Amino acid sequence: MVIRLNRRTFLKAATATATASYAARAIPAWAATDKGSVAVRTPLTTFAYSDVTLLDGPMKKQFDENHNRFLNLDDDRLLKVFRQVAGLPAPGEDMGGWYDLTGFSLERNDFHGFIAGHSFGQYLSGLARAYAVNGSEATRAKINRLVKGYGETLDPKAKFFAGYRLPAYTYDKLSCGLIDAHEFAQDPLAMEIHEKLTRAIVAYLPEKALSRQEQRSRPHKDTAFTWDETYTLPENLFLAYQRSGKTFYRDMAKQYLEDDTYFNPLSQGNNVLPFEHAYSHVNAFSSAMQAYITLGSEQHLQAAKNGFEMLVKTQSFATGGWGPNEAFGEPGTGQLGDSLASTHASFETPCGAYGHFKITRYLLRVTKDSRYGDSMERVLYNTILGAWPIQADGTSFYYSDYAATGKKVWYGQKWPCCSGTFPQLAADYHISTYLRSPDGVYVNLFTPSRVQWSDGGGRYGLKQETKYPFDNQIQIQVSASQPKDFTLYVRIPGWATPDPVLSINGARVSDPVQPATFAGLRRNWKDGDRVELELPMPLRLETVDENHPRFVALLQGPLVLFAIADSQPSFDRNALLQAKPANNDTGDWLATTADGSSVTMRPFMNIDKESYSTYVLLKA
Ligand SMILES: [Zn+2]
Repeated sequence: MVIRLNRRTFLKAATATATASYAARAIPAWAATDKGSVAVRTPLTTFAYSDVTLLDGPMKKQFDENHNRFLNLDDDRLLKVFRQVAGLPAPGEDMGGWYDLTGFSLERNDFHGFIAGHSFGQYLSGLARAYAVNGSEATRAKINRLVKGYGETLDPKAKFFAGYRLPAYTYDKLSCGLIDAHEFAQDPLAMEIHEKLTRAIVAYLPEKALSRQEQRSRPHKDTAFTWDETYTLPENLFLAYQRSGKTFYRDMAKQYLEDDTYFNPLSQGNNVLPFEHAYSHVNAFSSAMQAYITLGSEQHLQAAKNGFEMLVKTQSFATGGWGPNEAFGEPGTGQLGDSLASTHASFETPCGAYGHFKITRYLLRVTKDSRYGDSMERVLYNTILGAWPIQADGTSFYYSDYAATGKKVWYGQKWPCCSGTFPQLAADYHISTYLRSPDGVYVNLFTPSRVQWSDGGGRYGLKQETKYPFDNQIQIQVSASQPKDFTLYVRIPGWATPDPVLSINGARVSDPVQPATFAGLRRNWKDGDRVELELPMPLRLETVDENHPRFVALLQGPLVLFAIADSQPSFDRNALLQAKPANNDTGDWLATTADGSSVTMRPFMNIDKESYSTYVLLKA
């Protein structure tokens, strides 16, 4: 194997060898020999996290910020609530916010102590995925300490969950964290603890996945007890089956598929999204995808495809965000436009973006349809890349605000759900940028980055350089230890009309380049070959919904341009479409309002404290 021995690669190779021999001793025999089989090998697969390097840019910045935040969060604080309930010495400060044991009151609208320890598994997962990216020894050691520490608090009956408000919710996240600690950091205890926890948690779960309506029909004195998310359990249970080979995980996953009230109607094209909790029901699409991959269930694939299409067509804002007040509305009633006047809680951003990335990645892997990449990119640039970083005390960005006049704000409670999904998502940027097929590589996101792979004894790579989306040019350089035939697939966004241009080594590709496809470039690639993509990025308008034709967002390429103003400005349609670029580095544009004043139009990722309008008003 040819390994280019820069210092980082060398260190990573050394670490990989060390952990591999460590893992060979530590992982039980069943895990090494009897892995759970899957029914479907998807046409596209993800690269390993470590195959992709993000270079300087906003995605790398978010990954680094999240990794540093959780690497430096005190172990004792993270483990405190579990130790307290177990009656063990529990040193360290309280985490605060949602994470603590007590304080919650729906009557007082106080979410302090809402779900004790809820996000521990997600922080563990984020660290494990980060370790998969960067091989940091300090990160691996922290993962091992946290898994061991958590395991010490877990009794055979998981008494932590006795009287607990949302057992499925927190179990699902613990499950994910332990699976990732095993998968990516080869943690020697994680799957043993996972099994002990899973066998115990059953006593606290209902017999099947329950919709919120079903939960309300089994009334509890505390309303918050009717918010559990049993319908998101199968994804991680299927993954636990795949990684352990233990069939009880697969059987339990099947038991918690929300078929009667969700997947069956969705698979038949019946839009049952309205009034459901938004993020958790998008997250549930990933359980349907694992039912397809693991069991071969076409019906669940259809449910996920249909559900996602309904999400995009009937529940989504121009930003790609969805679910004002965390709920889906009734299509055709103008619910999205109405929400601009009634709420500032327009999109649950880190959680929503995490769920959106997962389902679009699954659907891309199965269908190779570039529109899922378009949708992922829309959410990336207009929502999560504009989220403020999690602060040391757990203060977090939660909702994006699309109200007529909106503002970015911090969420009122520390360590909410969105502090759990943010580090997971930022690590997942690596596996979302490129995908692999048997005949080549798919370039899905345009961002400064490198990907490397081995094939037939050769070593290959791509290096992307671009200022996209603030520039319309993307350069991709090929590295190859020897020339090789493969296909380089490049996503051509659906909005890229007319005439996107692809060139190889300076010569324009003669075949027409179709928007809303992956353009396939098959040839004998040589070291130093260059691909250039130039995307047309015309300005365009999108209405919020058909009932509110005068509320429009201005878009350029993948970017929504937000009007920076203290009240919602009004425009003549043509004047808005004749906005002019003002600053190439920040993506600012200038547009002239109906009363002749000039308004800055700015991408979400470059907005800080200033007031803005996501949708502006068109003059009648
Ligand atoms: Zn959240």
